[in-house]
Amino acid sequence: MNSLINTLFERFPNCVSINPSDLEVASHDESSFLPVLPLAVVSLTTSREIQELVEICNQFKTPITPRGAGSALEGNTIPVQNGIVLDLSRMNRILEIDAQNLQVTVEAGVIYDQLNQKLKNFGLFFPPSPGGSSDVATIGGMISTNASGIYSVKYGGTKEHVLELEVVTGYGEILKLGNKCIKRSSGYNLTDLICGSEGTLAIVTQATLKLSAIPSHKKQFAYQFANITDAVTTISQLRAMGVDLAAMELMDANTIRALNKLNHYGLPEQPILFFEVHGSPYLLKEVMEETETISKENLGKPFNLNSAENPWTIRHYTTPAIKLYQPNKKIVRNDAAFPIASLPEVVQTIENWVHQKQTQGAKIELFILGHLGLGILHALMLADPMDQQSWNGAQEINHQIKKLAIEKRGTISGEHGIGIAHKDLLNEEHQTAVQVMREIKRVFDPNGILNPDKIFPTYLS
Ligand SMILES: Cc1cc2nc3c(=O)[nH]c(=O)nc-3n(C[C@H](O)[C@H](O)[C@H](O)COP(=O)(O)OP(=O)(O)OC[C@H]3O[C@@H](n4cnc5c(N)ncnc54)[C@H](O)[C@@H]3O)c2cc1C
Repeated sequence: MNSLINTLFERFPNCVSINPSDLEVASHDESSFLPVLPLAVVSLTTSREIQELVEICNQFKTPITPRGAGSALEGNTIPVQNGIVLDLSRMNRILEIDAQNLQVTVEAGVIYDQLNQKLKNFGLFFPPSPGGSSDVATIGGMISTNASGIYSVKYGGTKEHVLELEVVTGYGEILKLGNKCIKRSSGYNLTDLICGSEGTLAIVTQATLKLSAIPSHKKQFAYQFANITDAVTTISQLRAMGVDLAAMELMDANTIRALNKLNHYGLPEQPILFFEVHGSPYLLKEVMEETETISKENLGKPFNLNSAENPWTIRHYTTPAIKLYQPNKKIVRNDAAFPIASLPEVVQTIENWVHQKQTQGAKIELFILGHLGLGILHALMLADPMDQQSWNGAQEINHQIKKLAIEKRGTISGEHGIGIAHKDLLNEEHQTAVQVMREIKRVFDPNGILNPDKIFPTYLS
């Protein structure tokens, strides 16, 4: 291995670190999985350099784990087989803002919020905000997990915005994929294939993204409900009626409690739906009236958001609020997505499972939140890893939730990716199609050096 490190130092002086603190940073993401130290962190700034790194790592049969901000939640960014962590955060240039075509071309390390800050001057924005991580998440990381967020109900997830990609494959080729057309039928759609591939097929170096005009008018409002089933029924009815909301987010009573405890918001500790609508004053009025009708049919009550509090700023703190709610416990998380109409029944089922475990003596706190308008439901559970009954109980429910998603023809991951967290159920969701995925992996990365052991077990060959 020393000769690998020597080669890297020789070829990329000033770009390679074996400093323990850099290795520590690159050893984990935001999941609860155990960190694994890489051999070195390499920070490169051009596709040609990345191509050379891939060539060297193929020679030495050494894994490369691409890394943006490391905010992934499912172990996606942990270098589980050591090797090299490729830090893309220095590839942070906005290369072209094509305002006439509503497009932007960026390097992979550009940070979501910083991009939107720049685009504001042109009256444009890149919509699929990944909520609580928008201030750190990179465009490369968002593409590689097919991230989504509060505005994806109206505008779609990251994949729906990717027009062109420049990538370096696992066999060291620089490929230009896609074009600037927003509709095309030209050959296999390789841009879509890269989206959500978690750095296992290719390293994204550049992307051209479709943008939207900043809406002329927008309005945020909220309803509180007596119970979560009524809140979720409201969402499924709003979706069924095609009410044109830009965002529809759920937080259950426990999540609100945790947020109040962290930041003293004084919010009603009941399930709350936060909404946002974009468009003309006429559309705003119509959508708000439709939302009011359906919310009230489900016994929802409007409540005034303190004008100083943006609901998305409140939402931004949900993960830290839940983490700090009972600091001796850890989060057991999931990211399943369900067909919207099944959500009321799904939520009820999950609550029953947790209640059953609690009556048997398990100490599990359940927090339900998510981009429910997309069917993405995060049922986070706090449990003490040292308390076997509670910890195992939470893990068991977690597994059941994912199995339920498959049973309902949903998915085990709506937006975070498979990482190492959900590998066990990939075969059950995709059946024989997993074999096709493995073949695709072999085509892009014949030696299996790119982010090995993610999505499905892989070995260096
Ligand atoms: C508090 C909090 C809230 C979050 N909320 C959301 C949310 O609402 N919606 C959502 O979708 N996600 C959310 N996430 C998860 C995470 O922020 C997103 O998945 C984000 O897109 C990851 O970006 P990143 O730059 O941190 O990627 P990283 O964590 O660095 O990488 C993620 C994956 O992509 C790969 N990768 C990174 N860059 C590249 C590249 N250039 N080329 C190839 N592969 C690459 C990595 O190997 C890894 O597999 C949240 C995370 C946190 C901590």
